[in-house]
Amino acid sequence: MARLAIDLNVIEANARAVVEACRPLHIEVWGVTKCVLGCPRVARAMLQGGVAGLADSRLANLDRLRRAVGEVPRMLLRLPYPAEAPRVVELAGISLNSERVTLDALARAAGERGREHGVILMVDMGDRREGVLPEDLMELARVAASAAPLRLAGIGANFACYGGVVPTPANLEALVELAARVRQETGGGPVGVSGGNSTSLRLVATAAMPAGISQLRVGEAILLGREPSSGEPVPGTRPDAFRLEVEVIEVKRKPSAPCGEVARDAFGRRPVHRDQGDRMRVLAAVGVQDLGMGALRPLTGGVEVLGASSDHLILDVTDVDVIPAVGDRLSFRPDYGAVLALMTSPHVDRHYG
Ligand SMILES: *Cc1c(COP(=O)(O)O)cnc(C)c1O
Repeated sequence: MARLAIDLNVIEANARAVVEACRPLHIEVWGVTKCVLGCPRVARAMLQGGVAGLADSRLANLDRLRRAVGEVPRMLLRLPYPAEAPRVVELAGISLNSERVTLDALARAAGERGREHGVILMVDMGDRREGVLPEDLMELARVAASAAPLRLAGIGANFACYGGVVPTPANLEALVELAARVRQETGGGPVGVSGGNSTSLRLVATAAMPAGISQLRVGEAILLGREPSSGEPVPGTRPDAFRLEVEVIEVKRKPSAPCGEVARDAFGRRPVHRDQGDRMRVLAAVGVQDLGMGALRPLTGGVEVLGASSDHLILDVTDVDVIPAVGDRLSFRPDYGAVLALMTSPHVDRHYG
């Protein structure tokens, strides 16, 4: 069975590095666990590293965290829909929101339970995923500020998820200014500014983070030590928290080009192959079902990943020093997409160290 080895010490140290880098800027870091299916062990490592709370996009993951980790602050990242408002106020102290009808449902649900629920209003600063347009923020802020069981915890934005738009001093300063206006308009208390995800750490690293950002929601930089938009390492972190080991099931010398009439592959794509003559090829026992859209970087020199079908990984090992044998294990470094799928697949043995 494919085995995913997870080094909790690396995750803790990475969390600490991110938390310490943000501390002088008065930015609190929330650890994002959605990539690991709300895994309590990973969450505890993040908490040991000093994150202020745990954030996840799925209520089931937040429930898992509540049961296993206990009373730590929890945030729902994905915008809820009205019917799940009762579960949201049960499982999360804060949620990200952009719709009035959902705020109304959250206010009702929180009121019925005699609880307060914090909301962060999301603003679309250009990435075109969630959020109200800046010109529509004040109206929503007035709703949030006047619905008693709701607490307007702040405003926020997300970057580099759909449109690929990166956070910059300009768009984050604009977000801070919007928060100041919200504070004026709602006559009130402090309005936090949740300034994005791991991508925003590029501004921390280059000392370009505008004053006034009070929170970041960080997953990938803690888990994989990587700033997603550039792929660059995050200073002080390590990239080796996850290692995938997969069994070899076939080793053969084969022509590299397919033979016969070529139509579409298992996923409806038309394959393009380089003809490199005969090559040593390995099949390994993992596939798209376990890897999703993710990619693997081989840890053995000379191994090249050629592709994958649902249950097979296809490798070229011609340039490897010692050709692997059937039954051997090969090791890989999974990227974010691969970790996301590997943590979800029932066919992967997850091993914590
Ligand atoms: C996934 C997500 C994050 C964390 O993103 P990373 O790139 O893993 O740091 C933060 N905020 C929101 C709203 C998200 O959906």
